[in-house]
Amino acid sequence: MRIHLVTGGAGFLGSHLIDRLMEAGDEVICLDNYFTGRKRNIARWIGHPRFELIRHDVTEPIRLEVDRIWHLACPASPIHYQTNPVKTAKTSFLGTYNMLGLARRVGARLLLASTSEVYGDPEVHPQPESYRGCVNPIGIRSCYDEGKRIAETLCFDYQRMNGVEVRVARIFNTYGPRMLIDDGRVVGNFIVQALRGDSLTLYGDGSQTRSFCFVSDLIEGLIRLMNGADTGPINLGNPDEFTIRQLAELVRQRINPKLPLIEKPVPEDDPRQRRPLIDLARQQLGWQPTVSLEQGLGPTIDSFRSVLALEEDRGA
Ligand code: NAD
Ligand code: UDP
Repeated sequence: MRIHLVTGGAGFLGSHLIDRLMEAGDEVICLDNYFTGRKRNIARWIGHPRFELIRHDVTEPIRLEVDRIWHLACPASPIHYQTNPVKTAKTSFLGTYNMLGLARRVGARLLLASTSEVYGDPEVHPQPESYRGCVNPIGIRSCYDEGKRIAETLCFDYQRMNGVEVRVARIFNTYGPRMLIDDGRVVGNFIVQALRGDSLTLYGDGSQTRSFCFVSDLIEGLIRLMNGADTGPINLGNPDEFTIRQLAELVRQRINPKLPLIEKPVPEDDPRQRRPLIDLARQQLGWQPTVSLEQGLGPTIDSFRSVLALEEDRGA
């Protein structure tokens, strides 16, 4: 039986990963500072003999005996990572440095949850792993983008210098149940706005594109990457590309086709287009997404609907 450490385990992706690891019969330590994570996401495992929960900030070192480190701790939504950009950069740099130090000491393998944001506002489309990106180093997204870039650098330097086994996933926009109501990312925003009967907010004219991966597909990709031989970096995402306006249409068709779409200013450095090339993941991991956006929106809407209903009950 393996001992897994999941940093950021109370967050959206981390909690889905923990479900898979616990269901496989392994031992799991969830580490989180609850900035954007919630205990309710992992509540079903609290008290389980194979599960432990630690409140800790990854910017501080920690000593634990573990076999696998899934390093996910970092706010992922622009509104959250821009709240305290210096803290975000520290989380990426010091957090990854501390986790790599731990991996070296105990001989654990470490998987870094990196991001498509390392490609910045890409001039190459779709993005292969060999593309080195177009990142503004001094803009409002840089704390996150450059933070993840230095985190990747640290991984490969620890591998070269200290023989630490690393795996690096470049995750593209992922959505699904358990995203926070105030997460701020586009899928959640549109669903919550539509469920509340509000207008859907397009930033700009909605012609920018993203490719949305359902959470179960993403977690499967992470598990294959951790267990396989390839270090990455490897793109994990759904290659079906949508404009943001198309996404808004899909959401309002399902909830209330009469709701208006309104345009708001585009945030600084917002990437114009994004779509992963996933040839490497197909070859190395035998992985590709299986859930279309149309299919994934159903359970995601249901999950937001239940949370909003609970909030209404509490308010009543
Ligand atoms: P999330 O915000 O739901 O989860 C992040 C978790 O990390 C939260 O539980 C938060 O409390 C915790 N955390 C943040 N700072 C911490 C710190 N200093 N110490 C300890 N814990 C801390 O976001 P998510 O969508 O689940 O993303 C998880 C990881 O995947 C992040 O590293 C993110 O950069 C990466 N990623 C996610 C996406 C996506 O679309 N969801 C895309 C690319 C990369
Ligand atoms: N976006 C939007 N309306 C919203 C939230 C986001 O039009 O209410 C746009 C945003 O400008 C970006 C895209 O949707 O072009 C994806 O934004 P998100 O914050 O989800 O992720 P990221 O930009 O990090 O890919």
